[in-house]
Amino acid sequence: ENFDRTVRAFPQRDALVERASGRRWTYAELAADVDALALGLLELGIAPGDRVGIWAPNCAEWTLTQYATAKLGAILVTVNPAYRSHELEYVLNQAGIRLLVAAERFKSSDYAGMIAEVRPSCAALEEVVLLGSPEWDALLERGRRAEPAALAERQAGLSPDDPINIQYTSGTTGFPKGATLSHHNILNNGYFVGELCGYSEVDRICIPVPFYHCFGMVMGNLAATSHGACMVIPGPAFEPGATLAAVAAESCTSLYGVPTMFIAELADPDFERYDLSSLRTGIMAGAPCPIEVMKDVIGRMGMAEVSICYGMTETSPVSTQTRADDSVDRRVSTVGRVGPHLEVKVVDPATGRTVPRGVPGELCTRGYSVMLGYWGEPEKTAEAVDAARWMHTGDLAVMDGDGYLAITGRIKDMVIRGGENLYPREIEEFLYTHPDILDVQVIGVPDAKYGEELMAWVRMREGAAPLTADAVREFCAGRLAHFKIPRYVHVVDEFPMTVTGKIRKVEMREMAVRILE
Ligand code: ATP
Ligand code: MG
Repeated sequence: ENFDRTVRAFPQRDALVERASGRRWTYAELAADVDALALGLLELGIAPGDRVGIWAPNCAEWTLTQYATAKLGAILVTVNPAYRSHELEYVLNQAGIRLLVAAERFKSSDYAGMIAEVRPSCAALEEVVLLGSPEWDALLERGRRAEPAALAERQAGLSPDDPINIQYTSGTTGFPKGATLSHHNILNNGYFVGELCGYSEVDRICIPVPFYHCFGMVMGNLAATSHGACMVIPGPAFEPGATLAAVAAESCTSLYGVPTMFIAELADPDFERYDLSSLRTGIMAGAPCPIEVMKDVIGRMGMAEVSICYGMTETSPVSTQTRADDSVDRRVSTVGRVGPHLEVKVVDPATGRTVPRGVPGELCTRGYSVMLGYWGEPEKTAEAVDAARWMHTGDLAVMDGDGYLAITGRIKDMVIRGGENLYPREIEEFLYTHPDILDVQVIGVPDAKYGEELMAWVRMREGAAPLTADAVREFCAGRLAHFKIPRYVHVVDEFPMTVTGKIRKVEMREMAVRILE
C-alpha cells in the first residue's frame, strides 16, 4: 500500500537506476514491472507463506523481486551472493525454499552449476529462475498477460503481521541466524529511517550496501519508496570508485555505507576528482563508526546531515539514529537516541536490572521492530527475545542523561585483562588519531599471566612504514592507561570480513593465536 501510494503520488519521477547496465525506471514503470512479476509468480502457483529465495548481488531484478513477493504474501529469503554450494544447501533446506531466483546475469560465479549440485538434496526446491535468462523474461511476459484482478484479490487476504522476509544475520560472531520479519516490522522501520533522514521525492540515494541485508533492502529500498525517493545501484558489488562515480553522475543526495566502505572511498586516489556537491545526507551503520571517519564524511564528502544508525537484523534493523539537528559532537560520537515508537534500556547482563545512566551494560530494545523469531529455531528465539518482548542485543552501551547512546562494543568482544574490563572500541578510537594508521582493530588474545592481552591489527596508510609494538607503546604512553596499551601489534593489508563488510573478530582471534605460537 505504501509503495502503491508513492506510485500514485510520483508516477513520473525516477524510482530506480542500475548503473552497471544504464537501465532506469520511473515509479510508474517500476510498478508495472513489479505487478508483472507478482502476477507471473502467482501463475506459477506461489502461495502466501511460500518461501522464495533470492541469491544475487545488488541489481534491479532484486528490487523487483522484493516488491513482487511482498505483494503476493510470499516470504522472501535473502541469500548472501557470496554463499557457495554448501551454504546454499543449508539455507535452501533451513528455510524450505520453494522457488529460487538466482543471478546468472552475473558471470562472476557459476550460480547455475552450484544449484545443480545441491538440488538433489533440497526436497522443497521446485523451481529455479535465472536472472537474465529466457525463463525470467517469460515469467514477466506471462505476468503481463495475466488478469490483474487476481493480484488485488490476493492482497486483500494478507495481514501486516504476516512474515514477509527471512534475513540471515551477518555471521560476525558465529553462524548466521534467519530472522523472520513481518510487513509491519520492516515497512515501519524503512519509513521512520527515511523520516529522520528528511527524505522526499527530490532525494536520490546511492546504495552500495548489500540488498540481501536489511541495510540495503529496508534502510535503502523501503526508506526510498516510502518517501518517493530514487534508488541508485552503483554496482553489483562494492567498489569505491564506482560508488563515488555513481554519486557524481546521478547527483545523489544521500550515500550509505558501513564504516569500511567510507574509509575506502575517502582513501580512493581519485577522490578529489569526483563532484560530490549534491550530497546532503547519508547513513553510516552496521559496525562501530570511528569518530575520525565521521568527521571526514561531514567535512570532505559534504554530508552535513549524515546520520549514524544502530541496529541489528533481528530488529528490522534500526533502533537508534542521530538526527540532523543533533550537535556535530553527538552525531560523531553517539548512535543517537531511540527511534520513534521504540523503547531501549541498558541492563546489567548478570542481573537484568537497568543500570544508572553513564554505566555500561547490555542494550535491550522493544517495540514494533522486534522480529517474529528465528526461522525454525524457537530455542534461539527464546534466548534473544524475553517474555516481555525485549530483544537482548548482545551489545554493550552507555546512555547519557539526555538519552543518547554510545555503543562500547559487543559483549563477546570485551577483553578482560587481569580482572580489568577493556573495551577495544575505546582503544581503536585512540589509535585512529595516529597519522600513519588507516584502519585499526583491537582484540584480546589468551595470556598466561593476565588471562587476556591486547593485540592491535593495523592497516597502514599508503607510503607509511609498518608500525612496531614499541612505536605504538610510545604513541600511547602518558595518554592511555598502561593496561589499555596493546602488547602486540600486527600490520596487515586486510582484515577478515563478512560480505556485509564487517570485520570478523572471531576469525582474527583464531588467527592471532596461530601468529603468537
Ligand atoms: P551475527 O549476529 O550473525 O553474529 P551481526 O550481529 O554482525 O552477525 P547484523 O544483524 O548484521 O549481524 O549486525 C548487527 C550488529 O552490528 C549489532 O548487534 C552491533 O554489534 C553492530 N552494529 C550495528 N550498528 C552499529 C553501530 N552504529 N555502532 C556499533 N555497532 C553497530
Ligand atoms: Mg547479531
